[in-house]
Amino acid sequence: MVCPVCGHAFGTVHAGTYVTVGREADLCPKIPGRPSDGARAIRNSVTMCPACSFAAGEPFDELDLTFDERYGIEERLREDGLLKVFSRGQPSWLGFHAAEVCGKERRITSRELGDLCLRASWVCRKEKERPFESTFQLRALRHFMRALQEDALVGRELSVTTYLVGELNRRLGNHREALNWYVNAGRTTEGDPRVAWLDRLIDRQSKLAREQAA
Ligand SMILES: [Zn+2]
Repeated sequence: MVCPVCGHAFGTVHAGTYVTVGREADLCPKIPGRPSDGARAIRNSVTMCPACSFAAGEPFDELDLTFDERYGIEERLREDGLLKVFSRGQPSWLGFHAAEVCGKERRITSRELGDLCLRASWVCRKEKERPFESTFQLRALRHFMRALQEDALVGRELSVTTYLVGELNRRLGNHREALNWYVNAGRTTEGDPRVAWLDRLIDRQSKLAREQAA
């Protein structure tokens, strides 16, 4: 793998696919084995350059960065506070955070930025990093809200994103807000049989949020 920002060549773990045995209500995959193995499997879905911390969910050879993007990314990575503090320890969420920083410069969609933060929160949960889990849930929530306003989402992606705004609100303790978003999500599925699983999830999580709100 060759870094498209600094040109550093390095070996990397092939992201590959992993076996899942269902998903949690925020769609975090349940992966057999120890939670730390699951965290590693999820973490491998982003690649981070060990020299300059450039990171992305896509294979590096598929990226075609302009001169300005490369310059902007270098600048952002150099100035990022979390990278300064944590690059030595390399916590599992770091690659997602770096990919979010670089993704903003590459102008990837808010939906994609939210997805990076959501996956970071999954890794934190599997590693019992509670404060970081909430931090990334909040960031994912903000990106998904922006995606609903700006990304012109349709179909399944619209339904799932709306649902996740509800579920992330619930997990962050905003139960009333969560209930409103579950209702919105239910309206977007319109009884589409392909998302029947989502309708069931919305029902179940609404009940839970109602109990928690009481
Ligand atoms: Zn690099």
